Amino acid sequence: MLVSMLEIMQHAKKGGYGVLAPNVFNEDTVRVCLEAAVELDSPIIIDVLESNTKDLVSFGKMIRLLAHEVRVPVAINLDHGQNDAACMKAIYGGFTGIMVDRSFLPFEENAREVRKFKELCAPIGVTVEAEFGQIAEGEEYLEKREEYLTDPEMAKKFVELSGCDCLAVSIGEAHGEYVTEPDIDFERLQKIKEAVDVPLVFHGGSWSGFENIAKCCQIGCQKVNMGSHAYQNGVDKYMEERAKGNPDTTSARTGGNIMWAGYKEIVIKYMKCCGSEGKNWLKIVD
Ligand SMILES: [Zn+2]
Repeated sequence: MLVSMLEIMQHAKKGGYGVLAPNVFNEDTVRVCLEAAVELDSPIIIDVLESNTKDLVSFGKMIRLLAHEVRVPVAINLDHGQNDAACMKAIYGGFTGIMVDRSFLPFEENAREVRKFKELCAPIGVTVEAEFGQIAEGEEYLEKREEYLTDPEMAKKFVELSGCDCLAVSIGEAHGEYVTEPDIDFERLQKIKEAVDVPLVFHGGSWSGFENIAKCCQIGCQKVNMGSHAYQNGVDKYMEERAKGNPDTTSARTGGNIMWAGYKEIVIKYMKCCGSEGKNWLKIVD
């Protein structure tokens, strides 16, 4: 069942757990994410990057159809909406959350841009995620990790000024593969949680360490983004089967199924470490 992203995050905040937001890029990845959520009786946030689809509008509408068919709470969120056009397309496509990522702009401009979308989205029940602080990627992690970290007091001001519904924070995570061991700043997360009321988002879940993620969800992250690790496992599984001479790998149709199964395996692992298993609040009452 389709719900707003904020509804999922509010339940998570109250229950003290996190909800996985896997990056999807086609119908099959959406379907295996929904299957995983049903199997674990868990809410899920389907995260879509603009660059992962040719058309946000039709993709959003397709995910809506599939979300209506399952009896777990499902939100559809635009991941890293870095321009107005992507945010508007996502709204038009029926997404129930958009990330208005202007973290590359100075503090006040970032807040102003988020506020603009908050005013547009509030009347139609679309959740607005903002990012304050930045998330490094690749080699950047070594040079910029410190500089990018979210300051708790500034985060408080940012939430007040922007009116965002939830906030992505930088606490030492990295997007994609880490070039060194992940160095997660749990104390900083605790301080941010105490300073702001809105739910918090952990970006760059891939390879951040299951124990680290579980701890962040216990401290106060209600959404965990993850993509690369699941993509990689899908390809790894395919290559393993290929090396074994599995005839299914000789067709794109059957070979794809091996990949989606590998992708799903990782989605399930991350969902379990977020602590959302069994947290479906949409129970059937006969
Ligand atoms: Zn991200």
